[in-house]
Amino acid sequence: MNIHEYQAKTLLRQFNVPVPEGRVVHNDTHAALAAEEMGGERWVVKAQIHAGGRGKGGGVKLVDSIEAVRQAADALIGSRLVTPQTGPEGRLVQRVLVEQAQQISGEYYIGLLLDRAQQRITIIASAAGGMDIEEVARATPEQIVRETVDPAVGLLDFQCRKIAARIGLTGKLMGQAAKLMRGLYRCFRDTDALMLEVNPLAVVEGNRLVALDAKISFDGNAMYRRTAVADLRDFDEEDSKEVEASGHGLNYIALDGNVGCIVNGAGLAMATMDAISFHNGKPANFLDVGGGASPEKVGNAFRIVLQDPNVK
Ligand code: GDP
Ligand code: MG
Repeated sequence: MNIHEYQAKTLLRQFNVPVPEGRVVHNDTHAALAAEEMGGERWVVKAQIHAGGRGKGGGVKLVDSIEAVRQAADALIGSRLVTPQTGPEGRLVQRVLVEQAQQISGEYYIGLLLDRAQQRITIIASAAGGMDIEEVARATPEQIVRETVDPAVGLLDFQCRKIAARIGLTGKLMGQAAKLMRGLYRCFRDTDALMLEVNPLAVVEGNRLVALDAKISFDGNAMYRRTAVADLRDFDEEDSKEVEASGHGLNYIALDGNVGCIVNGAGLAMATMDAISFHNGKPANFLDVGGGASPEKVGNAFRIVLQDPNVK
């Protein structure tokens, strides 16, 4: 399960991770009001969609007047934003985050993820943060540092300082980075996250570290015990057929082929998809109606599969 940047920042604030002051709004008038209320001279208007690469797609606008805030919000809200991560159809922008703009003197990357091979939370960091981190990881992987956390003792202070030192955060910034990493780790652990990414982690005026962007995804299977997090789910960002299916207790995942699949049991559903692929077909979906499915459940399954115009 994914959430928006503004929701991730609200969560991080609860774990004492510094984030810029900001307001989320649904129209241009409220965007202008938000900027006026917060004060300052420069603002950043950021499209809220469940996809990254917004900076590259024109979804992050730096402006220096209230009127320009209004115009930026007006241009973004209601538009379909195309970024390197959305696909050509883009995503409908329904709200923007208006923040006081920061003056940036350094951009770092810090991420936490569940490393399945090690069965542990791993912290990944780099001095080469910002919009090209994917390229850094591909071309110069030596610029990325990793540190694995032992769950029996948690994230230790020396590990935080080691990561900070290796990405060049020294002196006063090292102490801030260590505190911030402990906050990120507690947030990750206490919300059953699978991935938490702050990019950029920026050095701003007054030599302070601030999480300028935040992205968190959670383990859907753990949401029954994280109701506050589960409430952040935005159904508009998800495939409507998948949402409807989960409401009927069906496991449905949309794919891009044209052979609709309705199968009882996840293992048989996987084997069916393999068989289709083996014979050069392409499944349009994965759909497990479960064992002992009722006529109603099978009826719902047909309805959902037939909603997909690609199903032949
Ligand atoms: P992403 O492209 O979806 O990852 O969106 P980000 O939130 O990371 O924003 C993209 C870029 O916009 C960042 O890497 C920054 O360089 C820039 N940016 C974001 N907020 C600010 C800000 O407050 N001040 C300045 N100067 N730049 C910002
Ligand atoms: Mg970013």
